[in-house]
Amino acid sequence: MIEVILTAEGHAEAVERPQPSAHGDIVTVRVDVAPMCTEFRARGDGIEHDDLGHEAAGVVVDAGGSTRVRAGDRVVVMPQLGCGKCAYCVQGDHIYCLTPRDVRAETGSTTGIATYAQYVLKPDYLLLPVPDDVSLEHAAAACCLLGPGLHATSRMNVGVLDTVLVSGAGPVGLGAIINAGFRGARVLVLEANPYRQELARRLGAEVFDPFSADTDNAIAAAAPGGITAAIETSGVASVPARLAGLVRRLGQLAIVAWGTDVVLPPLVPTGLSVHGCWHWNHVRLADQMWATIRGSREALDLVTTHHLDLTEADAAMDVQQSGQCGKVFLHPHGRSGE
Ligand SMILES: [Zn+2]
Ligand SMILES: [Zn+2]
Repeated sequence: MIEVILTAEGHAEAVERPQPSAHGDIVTVRVDVAPMCTEFRARGDGIEHDDLGHEAAGVVVDAGGSTRVRAGDRVVVMPQLGCGKCAYCVQGDHIYCLTPRDVRAETGSTTGIATYAQYVLKPDYLLLPVPDDVSLEHAAAACCLLGPGLHATSRMNVGVLDTVLVSGAGPVGLGAIINAGFRGARVLVLEANPYRQELARRLGAEVFDPFSADTDNAIAAAAPGGITAAIETSGVASVPARLAGLVRRLGQLAIVAWGTDVVLPPLVPTGLSVHGCWHWNHVRLADQMWATIRGSREALDLVTTHHLDLTEADAAMDVQQSGQCGKVFLHPHGRSGE
């Protein structure tokens, strides 16, 4: 099969590698859509990587000994390799599992971990069945495009009475805007990149330039009832404290971005609730995810700005590096229109 690796020369290169083998409850999935996340950031570091990508939607081709899925099932591939047995995994919080499985050792495959590939291995309980009325391209939004924003908006119980401030309109921020909008909230956004400002506007959000001197006053004036919830996706160190200052008393703040230490003002005087949100719970929140996807198809098409073949991953990373994009999808078997 074809897999994309990062070379020591700082390129993303498509190479021929062995197709991985199913074993026990670990099944082989044909990767039809591989959404790109932050892998491009490692491209220039001169270190070889062959484990690129954790997002995928595709079709089960070898169900091994699985009793949960069959060959032909359309699925979303969840990230990581949670054990499926611990207290976190049993509740669907596989992302927080402390005892992950070693799929390569269990199957004897040298590949199968990465989704920048034509095939990937996954324990069957980490495959989310895709409803018949949802295309694989839209289902692929159930990875990092919509996942972290779903976690944040669900955890903060965002609804029609909320005014939500999203920091950053990169792919995760755009997903947070879609989630908050779908739940009926008014959405304000802090973003400086004009390309992404425009995407956010077309999603119905009100956009503010974070570097303009008057922005915080303008946000306060635009939301006289106060910002009830904020979602930080930018990863900029100073932003959590800024958002904490903009949220109304007894409001909520979700930190979605991986980044530096989070520094916040004292929480007691403001009553602020702070949530760390990593990915999403595909056991508890699956119905909410499918409802959000069904209700946001045009928005998903809008923010998925680029579709490239797997072999074009290097060029796709150039696009990501430029910031002139929303979410970028790779298609390891060509774009079928599925
Ligand atoms: Zn991701
Ligand atoms: Zn576990």
